[in-house]
Amino acid sequence: MSEATEVTFPIDDGARAAARRALGLGLCPECFGRSFGRLGHGLSNPDRAARLADALGTPFPPITAPCTVCGGAFDRWDVWVARARRSAEGVEWRRFSCGSRWDPEALAREEGIWTEIGSSWGESARGAFNRELGKRLEAATGTEGRPADPEVVFLADLPAGRVELTINPLYLEGRYRKLDRTLPQTRWPCRRCQGRGCDTCGGTGKTYAESVEELVAAPVLAVTRGEGTRFHGMGREDIDARMLGRGRPFVLEILRPKHRTVDPAELSAEIARAARGRVEVLDFRAADAQRVVQVKEATPQKSYRVAVVGTVPEAKINEALTFAVGRAIAQRTPTRVAHRRSDLVRPRRIVAAHLVESAEGRFTLDLRAEAGTYIKEWVEGDGGRTDPNLAQLVGIPLHVEHLDVLEIHDTEV
Ligand SMILES: [Zn+2]
Ligand SMILES: [Zn+2]
Repeated sequence: MSEATEVTFPIDDGARAAARRALGLGLCPECFGRSFGRLGHGLSNPDRAARLADALGTPFPPITAPCTVCGGAFDRWDVWVARARRSAEGVEWRRFSCGSRWDPEALAREEGIWTEIGSSWGESARGAFNRELGKRLEAATGTEGRPADPEVVFLADLPAGRVELTINPLYLEGRYRKLDRTLPQTRWPCRRCQGRGCDTCGGTGKTYAESVEELVAAPVLAVTRGEGTRFHGMGREDIDARMLGRGRPFVLEILRPKHRTVDPAELSAEIARAARGRVEVLDFRAADAQRVVQVKEATPQKSYRVAVVGTVPEAKINEALTFAVGRAIAQRTPTRVAHRRSDLVRPRRIVAAHLVESAEGRFTLDLRAEAGTYIKEWVEGDGGRTDPNLAQLVGIPLHVEHLDVLEIHDTEV
């Protein structure tokens, strides 16, 4: 026999006196027994009530009116289970948790009764109801009560006689490659109308017709029948920068999904097909809410390929790069992002740099930099707001023609 099945219920004089006082209070066996719920273990609350009545040598009084604490809620499991199942009709779930909303007066009455009868063993109706409903839902549906990690949450509203369902998000993570220089990472509401739709945005409410988020989300929403998405990228690149290499880590959060069993490999094939080569997702797989935090907080180094316009002798470029690598850069928030980031001077560093090729009037660099380094500004100088900068080091104005992110070094390649 395991310890869990061992029954102990020590009824001393104090418990007997409290039970005698509780007899006339109109409690159902569940609520009567629960007033002694933390006295001993291994018994259901109705069994506790029966044993207490036995100890008093009196039969448990018949219930003639709704219980003064629970109003009969503990006698109507079939009804509550049916309500919970109905609330989740058409929704796929395997793990759930249960909560309940009670009339505050009923809960106060319960505590008042414990004080009145002198019981220090009472267990709250709400906790017991949630636990019991969970057990019965598990039995009825073959799913698993998992309060720490539920896919859906049932809230039994006792006064209203209904169950409210919360569908928790579904998380998928992967790495996206962006092969198009016109796509923002996330949906970008029109500045003029804030997304309502106006002449400027042609009624779409968006500054850009599409985004990585929308191209990734569309096939996923079609399968999961979610109501929307949130896109959590490990940083972002400029709209006109491509994201190459192994791609950029991201988590896609699908809101209120009706369906959770998905095949990420099949979804990434569908994303690539629908995006017609502009976006690809690598290593698509299941994730959880914790990954959102990890992805948002990561500060990986990044590698770039930068096409620069400017006539500079190769030797001069190499000399400047040798000087710059590993040296502290003071980078003041660029003017172009000053509207969304506070105006600060941040210390940054170019970790590695080399000249890939040079031709008449232009050259190409590969750079590896600390997280948060503004590369365009480091090359062009941003009017001296980045110091030192490459233009200053080579002594002529430079212009970044385009830029690609080659690698996000969150893990080593
Ligand atoms: Zn009751
Ligand atoms: Zn607009």
